[in-house]
Amino acid sequence: MEIKSSLTVDDVLLIPKYSEIESRKDVGLSVDFGKGISLNIPIVSANMKSITEHKMAKQIALLGGLAILHRFCSAEEQGEQFALATQGFPQLIDRIGVSVGVKDKDYDALDILIGKYGAKIVCVDVAHAHGELAGMMTRYIADHYKEKGVFIISGNISTPEAAEYLERMGADAVKVGIGGGSICTTRVETGNGVPTFSSVLSINEWRNKTKSKLKIISDGSCKSAGDVVKLCAAGADAVMIGNLISGTDETPTEAITVNGVRYKEYNGSSTFKTNHIEGVKSLVCTKGPVSEVINKLCDGIRSGCSYQGVLKVSDLKNNPEFIKITNSGLIESRPHDVMVIK
Ligand code: IMP
Repeated sequence: MEIKSSLTVDDVLLIPKYSEIESRKDVGLSVDFGKGISLNIPIVSANMKSITEHKMAKQIALLGGLAILHRFCSAEEQGEQFALATQGFPQLIDRIGVSVGVKDKDYDALDILIGKYGAKIVCVDVAHAHGELAGMMTRYIADHYKEKGVFIISGNISTPEAAEYLERMGADAVKVGIGGGSICTTRVETGNGVPTFSSVLSINEWRNKTKSKLKIISDGSCKSAGDVVKLCAAGADAVMIGNLISGTDETPTEAITVNGVRYKEYNGSSTFKTNHIEGVKSLVCTKGPVSEVINKLCDGIRSGCSYQGVLKVSDLKNNPEFIKITNSGLIESRPHDVMVIK
């Protein structure tokens, strides 16, 4: 048996290219998803209970990203979150998605979320979407809500075969990444997963080969703007983040103080199930307004584009040259031999 190797963002770097970009301000971060959905920044907030409810959704959408509400509540409650987030800002309907699972009740939830509340972006959200249940739900939405022009995101997946399957079922975008989330224990507890960088790369290669129009949202494992840049160069059209925006003011969790330090909870979605094994609950330091985190992230992404000589983030994926680095390369890549004070 041939055993393939697979890489994470930390295993690679982009080789800088000849660039005529004078200022990173000149770099554009917009992405066109099709079906009337376009983002000003390639950032998607994770549909997790400790990340995206109405406050986060509104702010991320106003900043130009895509926010996806979590499904760990009743459909009516999720619908109310959607209504609160778009109250007074009807244009945000194109930047705020809702989530469903694949159970019977989720089919009923569609009528509430799409029919009653007017959602246009629906995320079919399960841990392993390369299977009949996620495929059936995707197909159902594509068939029943076609005239409403609903944009369907299905995930999560890690292989080109899964991308091809979900596209055939009617998905417009796939969420790519199994086991890479910062609060995820899937790989430890089940032995399954694929490093997110290689997943995105392989699905993008399949997309180029087949000329598929499927959009790729890389999901989980981003620790920095550099990671976002590498994932976009590997083929992601946008990147879903949880950890990076956890602990911000807009997350729906209460701050607590431990030994004088302010923390907020950031919990794996599976931890809401009894007997969960695939995620952990955690505390992260509070980070202030999400706009500050996102603006800094976007500055880094723009800078990454300027090193690559591209004026548009969507052009990062045109012929990037990655190199594999060693562990010493990774050590050299981070601040070293100093005591960091800021
Ligand atoms: P992060 O940005 O690295 O923190 O990853 C966030 C992503 O982790 C989410 O968007 C989900 O895809 C994934 N995730 C969330 N909760 C769980 C869990 O309980 N187990 C495994 N993966 C999870």
